[in-house]
Amino acid sequence: MTTFDAFLNSLGSPLDILVGFDRQAARAAGVKPATINDWDTLHRVYFGPTRFTRKQAQAVRVARETDKSLDQLVLIENQLKAVSDPSEKWRLRRALLSVRGNYDTLKRRAKDIIPDPDLDKPAPESTVRFSKTRKGTRSFTATGHERDIAALEYALRQRVDPSRPAGPQMYEALTGILKGDGGVADAVPRPLVVVPLEEHTTILRGDGDDTVLGLSDGTTITGAEYLARFCGEDLEVALFHPQAGPVNLYTGHRFANQKQRDLARATLTTCPVPECRHAADNCEVHHVTPWARGGPTNMDNLSILCRYHNRTNDDDPAHQHRGRIQIRGGTPVWVSPRGTPVANTTHQYGAMHLLFGKRQE
Ligand SMILES: [Zn+2]
Repeated sequence: MTTFDAFLNSLGSPLDILVGFDRQAARAAGVKPATINDWDTLHRVYFGPTRFTRKQAQAVRVARETDKSLDQLVLIENQLKAVSDPSEKWRLRRALLSVRGNYDTLKRRAKDIIPDPDLDKPAPESTVRFSKTRKGTRSFTATGHERDIAALEYALRQRVDPSRPAGPQMYEALTGILKGDGGVADAVPRPLVVVPLEEHTTILRGDGDDTVLGLSDGTTITGAEYLARFCGEDLEVALFHPQAGPVNLYTGHRFANQKQRDLARATLTTCPVPECRHAADNCEVHHVTPWARGGPTNMDNLSILCRYHNRTNDDDPAHQHRGRIQIRGGTPVWVSPRGTPVANTTHQYGAMHLLFGKRQE
């Protein structure tokens, strides 16, 4: 051994700094808290109590031999975080300690040595998610087969000009595809004329496919007759009563279920659960009193509800956990498990609100 080697040996390994590591002293010396935590972890791994005393001693020896820096030792512990079996952890730690070379070499080799923690997890399911609107923009993310996504990426990158950022150009290419032949139609809301009934008009009964209204002069009139003066041939007109809510929808065609769906969607423009952003067009039609409990398929028992909130709605009034939809003043509203109605403030453009303002709330 040369004198120089002896000198190097006398300096010892960086690991030796950790032998008597003391949190208090490190804090007093102004070491960053994150660094203190890292070194404390190393101290416990290499010098703390363990039932793997032989493996611990081996690890200390190898760390000294390969002259691991504290940064490298921290890197090793970070790489081992996902490994839960303690014996396996010691095996992998020793393999990492045996790697000779600098920090980057160790980092690169760690990828081969540490098993990918996601390896035995099942592949994520195909899905598409849409975000809330923020400052007039929305996001969507799609997860699917790598080949499909690769094909999309290839298509979007086709005409990217490398001198400009790729993201906005790829978005332009995407909208080009969506709006091209066979693409996605613009979201066009269906125009529907909503007509307020006079408050003194009473709804007598649903008669066949029509609603019979009682007027203050004692006569009766059907909804269709009532609307005869407003309604053109192809115009769709919905009648709304200030207290009872949606009454009936009149068009040239007759479609019973579709009619109720359309009315339900005209009453609210989004799912009625507070903060929910699902638009009426993407909602299901929900029985407020469940069909199974004798709830009729009448407008005064129907609400739109998004798929998720239709599943989580407390259908049984005796068991309240997550709240339920009730009809209040002709308008479906979410009522908390303790009985407080809370409006979804995003549906202010529903027909009942447009026609009669906030008074039904
Ligand atoms: Zn919802």
